[in-house]
Amino acid sequence: MPSVISDACIKCGTCATVCPVSAMHVSDTQLVINPEVCIDCGACIAECPVSAITTDAEADEAAIKYNAEQSKVCPNAED
Ligand code: SF4
Ligand code: SF4
Repeated sequence: MPSVISDACIKCGTCATVCPVSAMHVSDTQLVINPEVCIDCGACIAECPVSAITTDAEADEAAIKYNAEQSKVCPNAED
C-alpha cells in the first residue's frame, strides 16, 4: 500500500531526498506521492519532521485522492 502525504506537510523536501523511485511531486500547498510509483519502502515516513506521511491504510480518503490527482499534474520534486 503506497504512502500518502497529508496537508500537515510543510514542504521541507526531505522525503523527496530519500525516496528511491522519485515518487514525490510538488503541489501548490504540499508534497504528494504518486501511488503508481511508490514501492512502499517506508523510508519517507520516518524522515518527515511533522509526521505528515502515512500508509494509505491510515490516511483519510481526501488525502489519498489529493495525492493521486495532484501527482499526475504537478512537477516531480526531483526536477
Ligand atoms: S514509501 Fe518509499 S517509495 Fe514510497 S514514497 Fe516513500 S520513500 Fe518513496
Ligand atoms: S518530509 Fe514531510 S514536511 Fe517535508 S516535504 Fe515531505 S511530507 Fe512534507
